[in-house]
Amino acid sequence: MNFNRTRRVIIAGCQGGGINAAREARRTDSDAEIILFDSSPFPPYSACSIPHVVSGKMDVAELITTSGDQLLAGFGIKLVSNATVVTGDAENRWVEIATPAASEIMEWDSLVIATGASPGIPAEYAQLFQPSAHWNQLCPNVHLLRNPSDADFLAQAMAALPAASPVAVIGAGSIGISMVEAALARGLCPYIVEAGPSIMGFSDGPAFDMITSALTARGVDIYLNQPGSAPIQEKGCVTSIQMPSGQVPCSLLILSCGVQPRTALAAEMGLRLGSSGAISVRETMETSASRIFAAGDCCETLDQLTGGRIYFPQASVAVRQGRIAGRNAVLAARPGGTPVSRDSLNTYPGTLRIWVTDCLGLEIASAGITTESTRDHVPAAGRDGVRSVKVMTRSRTPHFSPREDMAVELFYSSSTKLLMGGRIIGPAGTAADRINFIALACQKRMSLPELANLEMAYSPRIAPLWDPIITAARTVNQ
Ligand SMILES: Cc1cc2nc3c(=O)[nH]c(=O)nc-3n(C[C@H](O)[C@H](O)[C@H](O)COP(=O)(O)OP(=O)(O)OC[C@H]3O[C@@H](n4cnc5c(N)ncnc54)[C@H](O)[C@@H]3O)c2cc1C
Repeated sequence: MNFNRTRRVIIAGCQGGGINAAREARRTDSDAEIILFDSSPFPPYSACSIPHVVSGKMDVAELITTSGDQLLAGFGIKLVSNATVVTGDAENRWVEIATPAASEIMEWDSLVIATGASPGIPAEYAQLFQPSAHWNQLCPNVHLLRNPSDADFLAQAMAALPAASPVAVIGAGSIGISMVEAALARGLCPYIVEAGPSIMGFSDGPAFDMITSALTARGVDIYLNQPGSAPIQEKGCVTSIQMPSGQVPCSLLILSCGVQPRTALAAEMGLRLGSSGAISVRETMETSASRIFAAGDCCETLDQLTGGRIYFPQASVAVRQGRIAGRNAVLAARPGGTPVSRDSLNTYPGTLRIWVTDCLGLEIASAGITTESTRDHVPAAGRDGVRSVKVMTRSRTPHFSPREDMAVELFYSSSTKLLMGGRIIGPAGTAADRINFIALACQKRMSLPELANLEMAYSPRIAPLWDPIITAARTVNQ
């Protein structure tokens, strides 16, 4: 590696956080030298589409829509794969980059850390992996999901299993449920093992009933409240899962137990980590060290609704943080280091904790604060904390469409009636736009009475006279 020395921005990690940092840095400064290093062999890919590869609906090659080099060449950005930024010096501004061939020290004017996250592995399952590298499975029928290789490995393993083989999915988050759907699509018999009481955060009410009905109707067994479940191995393979409630056989095991921020580089460089364990950042995406920025799953984010710092590893957050980090990094790299201003162009306002997924014919979406709590947990909710209303209604006028149930939950401040969050489950195509609307209403600090009086468009075939969100808000106001 031998690059000309101009203003140099180095970015560690080339996925959602890193690639968006690089692009925005280039948009902001057409001359700066921008170099992305990634420890993996992969160019930028869509991790969010991995479930479709596993289910067989997409080819693994389609995860990488444009090759990294082609994509970045147009922007004059250099991507070096198989190159790990192992350590560095925040004061003297250099990093050490290790490739399979050699190690090299490189100076920078600004550094962006976008090292992402690794799959979370519960202690009971750690024995299935090499202690030093969580990525390396010791059992051939154990799977994690993060990158195209994982997707391909799992897709092939599922395709090779006899029909109706039992598949254990550990963890009932959105990735776990998407793996259940993928296994069903492959003619297998998945079941879910979850330590806690909830599926994708739902533990009671009509929404919970809709999800569990969709799963059990397809023959999926759901084992909730199974802390300490553990794999049983025979001849180097996992053959069953031991739970407090009994032992269930499995031909294939998928671990989908959340993620851990990858902070080794940040820790090496002495950067401050937050209480979540992820890198602590300001709204400008600056870390605790000058001219070092972070973005994506490796760092914390501001929570717009509470003003607190949380860990919310979603692509929707990573790409937005990346843009701010890239812009500010290249500005800070200018001669004399332009101080980063705090106007709206240069700051990430924080997350609204919004996400959506689709599975088993349902769209499941969430935004804002979605647990009832006392005021100690959510100060923004006021003196009496957060309450919720849960209704089951219809997403369309029944006359023109088959019965389409929709569960809506609204969370609000008990004292001020300000909307704090919401969750929606409905048929495909009905929840994503509505959750974006709920997020906007939370951001604009709308109250339930305001929501209940909102005018919304009506047309019999496509938009109901009373939208389910208004129906839910009116339930509280009655
Ligand atoms: C199966 C699946 C489905 C998902 N679905 C959704 C979805 O529908 N919606 C959504 O919003 N989010 C979704 N996500 C989450 C989303 O993919 C992540 O939030 C996003 O990829 C984060 O991007 P990132 O750049 O921060 O981190 P990562 O994607 O983890 O990328 C980090 C990169 O940094 C590299 N790296 C690590 N350490 C170093 C180092 N020291 N030096 C150099 N390179 C390094 C890694 O090799 C990696 O390529 C999904 C994730 C998965 C796994």
